[in-house]
Formats: sequence, structure tokens, C-alpha cells
Amino acid sequence: ETITVQELGNRMAERATDVIKELMKLGVMATINQTIDADTAELVIQELGHTYKRVTDADVEQGILGVEVDDEGDLATRSPVVTIMGHVDHGKTSLLDAIRSADVVRGEAGGITQHIGAYQVNLKSGNKITFLDTPGHAAFTEMRLRGATVTDIVVLVVAADDGIMEQTIEAINHAKASGVPIIVAINKMDKPGANSDRVKQELLQHELVVEDMGGDVQTVEVSAKAQTGLDKLEEAIMLQAELLELKANSDRDAIGTVIESKLDKGRGSVATVLVQKGTLVVGDIFVTGSEWGRVRAMTNERGQQITEAGPALPVEVLGLNGTPNAGDDFIVVENDAKAREIAEYREQKKKDLAAAAEGRGSLEQMLAKLKEGQAEELPVIIKADVHGSMEAIATSLQKMNTDEVKVNILHTGVGAINESDITLAQSTGAFVIAFNVRANPQAREMSRRENVDIRYYSIIYNVVDDVKAALSGMLEPEQ
Ligand code: GDP
Repeated sequence: ETITVQELGNRMAERATDVIKELMKLGVMATINQTIDADTAELVIQELGHTYKRVTDADVEQGILGVEVDDEGDLATRSPVVTIMGHVDHGKTSLLDAIRSADVVRGEAGGITQHIGAYQVNLKSGNKITFLDTPGHAAFTEMRLRGATVTDIVVLVVAADDGIMEQTIEAINHAKASGVPIIVAINKMDKPGANSDRVKQELLQHELVVEDMGGDVQTVEVSAKAQTGLDKLEEAIMLQAELLELKANSDRDAIGTVIESKLDKGRGSVATVLVQKGTLVVGDIFVTGSEWGRVRAMTNERGQQITEAGPALPVEVLGLNGTPNAGDDFIVVENDAKAREIAEYREQKKKDLAAAAEGRGSLEQMLAKLKEGQAEELPVIIKADVHGSMEAIATSLQKMNTDEVKVNILHTGVGAINESDITLAQSTGAFVIAFNVRANPQAREMSRRENVDIRYYSIIYNVVDDVKAALSGMLEPEQ
């Protein structure tokens, strides 16, 4: 963060020449239009007898929006928001369909469901659960990257006849990195080869200790095909929700998150918004990302028009000027003027950030932090061609941990680097160690776009060397 000498003077109501004089005393030669960093500015401010407060972006937005904090007394319990993850073919879609068919409201309405990325299921018990139907855990982490914490609970689907597979492990690591509790649904229990004990043993190897083994991870045996165990899964979700004490104030202007958005030929830009606080009403003026608009209409996943949406309800919103990104916030504001002001502020911020980030990778930032002693961990992801090499690298890296710095291995896997690896790296500032493997084209493209560092190796010694250098803050960023 920087400020010009002129601007700093203006804010303190001091003449720029006095600011320049103070800077000279500090050994900094600056002209009136030159920028100085925040730390130097702080010294000048103190020298001139002013008090100093760093204003964050949140402060500025808060100032414009006047977003109020909820009183404890206005909060009421809200429904949980669940994301289902797991290995391909383990039954995620089937399980969602099975749960959906138990929706009591759906029967009455009879409408055709359409994919809007999320929906709320009304269960016989009276409970409501919101499911996010976004494809894969890469989307889950991408959303988190934008600062959106949407999912309360992850349901990890593991096929009882197949056990834990590569994408199961990816899902576990993504969920862990975000701190979201996991419930394991052991699916396909109807199959002859089903063995839930084996699944539980395997979970243990990934530090998920299930309740049967004295841990706190709930497991539920289900069959999406035979529709068994679904009540138990519902109970497990509601129990976990209760532990999380999920609450929201529905009596305020809405705040939510964009789950997905698209350009619809007939209707223009539409976005699925999950309302998280307050109630969204047709006619509300909103800001999302750096766009703003007015809610023209809202529909649910059955295509029915609705006029109001409260906490944990996903709705399709019409009336956008552009297509926002998944994970963008969605805030209702008082009037057009505020909406425009905040949209313009964010647009400018985006430009500033883009300019600042040019040519600077996440690894480089991490190394800078390590160097300054701000970071104590070097996060890495290891992908290798064979299990043996992967283990050997992980073991060697762990041996390098000292009291001050440690290597944090977020994820290991055998096979090509995929998009899931890149999103995990991006959200954590990790770099990816590729041992005798390549990145698939999508991952390569994404890593370039998002500035994620992938380093290719074929000799373990070189990996060890580079990480050692990184830990001492000396690794040169890859050109
Ligand atoms: P996804 O890739 O995780 O979404 O998995 P799907 O839901 O598409 O299921 C993959 C395959 O497993 C399909 O052929 C399903 O019919 C089958 N399947 C899903 N759940 C069950 C189950 O509980 N029992 C049996 N026998 N098959 C299942």
C-alpha cells in the first residue's frame, strides 16, 4: 500500500512541503507526486503529531454501505448449506437425486427442476437442507478463494465397494483446508462387495477418525439406489448443523453469495444467489462484484416466481447488468447512489490490484513473507508418477522442519497435475512439486492465469535443494 506525498499532506491538513521535510529527516528524498509506503507514512504522521489508523477496504466499503452488525437477539436458527463431494462414480449425483425425491414440496408443485446450482430440500421431518450442486471440489475451493464461505458441511461420498480413491483424498484435503466439517456417506451398501469397515480404516489413514473409532467424524451407511440410510444421513447433517449453531437475522437487507451465473438468451444475465443474511425482495437494489442492479424477478429451481428469499434459500435473480463470478458477494443497498459508489470503488480497486499483481506469483509473495519472518510455513503440493517417489519426497521435506519454519504438505497424489491441485495451491499460496509428471492442459492454463508456481523435477535431490532454498528465503521465482 502506498500514498503520494501530496495526498498524505491533504489527509493530515499539513502542507506538502512539511511532509517532505519530515521525510528528509527520515532520510527519504521525495517529491510531491512521489508515492511512499505505508510504514514510512506512519512515521511521518507520528512525527507531525497526528494519530494513525490504517483504513482497510472493508472499512471503506462499510463506510459507504453502512452495513450493520446483527444483534444477538435478532438471530434465528437457519438451515445448513451442504456440498457433496467424492470420487467420480461413487454416487454423488445419485445421492442428490435420492434426497431430492424425498422433497415434500416438490411433489405438490410437480414442476420440472432445472439446474441452477443449488436448491433447498424440504424434508418430511420439517427440516430444510440446502444443497450446492456445483461440479466438483475445484469449484468449492474457487469460491472460497473469493472469500466466500458458503458451505457449512461437506458430505463426502465413498463407495463401499471401492473405498478411498484419488478424488476422495482431494476432497478431504480441500475440505480440511477450508475448515468445514465432514460427514462421510458410505454409499452403495446394497452391493455384494460393500465393506464399510474397510472404508473407515482407510479414512483413518487420512486423519479422519470416525465415531466408531473414538473420533468425531460421523459416518452413515447409505444406498442411493435402494434409497436406504437417507433418514440417517439427514439426522447426521442436522446434528452437525446443531453443533455449528447456524444462525442468521432474516429481518434486514440481504447479503448473499453468487453460486453461479450465466447469460440466458431470453432473460439476459441471471445469477443463482444463496441468501445468507436478511431477506432478498423483488425491487431491491444490489451490488455484486463490481456491478450493480435491481432485482427484477426471482425464481426457484422449479422455475416458479417468488417475491422473497430468506437465509439459506438459493434463488435465481434477474436484473443484472453483467455476469458476476461464482463466489462474488451480493449485497442489498439503500439506493442507486450507494450502489454506484461501491461498484466504482471496487472497479478501481480491481484495476489497482491487477497492476500491482502483474508478474508477481503467489510463491514469490510467500517467499517474501518467509523472508520477513511473517510466515512460518511453506505450503506445498506434491504430485508424482509413482507412489514411492511421492512418499520419498514427502519424507525428505518433513525432515527439513525446524523450530522456525516448516514445510506444510497440503496434498499428495499420483498422476498429472489437475485443476483441483491448482485451486488448492492458489487458495493457500502453495507451490506444486511435479515429479516426473506434467500438468493437464486446463491446469497448465489455469496456473498461468492465476500465477500458481508449478516446478518440474526428475531428481529428488533437486526438490530437496529447492525447498531448502525456499525455506531460507532464497529461491528465485521461476521465469
Ligand atoms: P457420481 O459420478 O459420483 O455423481 O456418481 P453417479 O451418481 O453418477 O453414480 C455412478 C454409478 O453408480 C451409476 O451407475 C449409479 O447408478 C451407481 N450407483 C450410485 N449409487 C449407487 C448405490 O447406492 N448402489 C448401487 N448399486 N449403485 C449405485
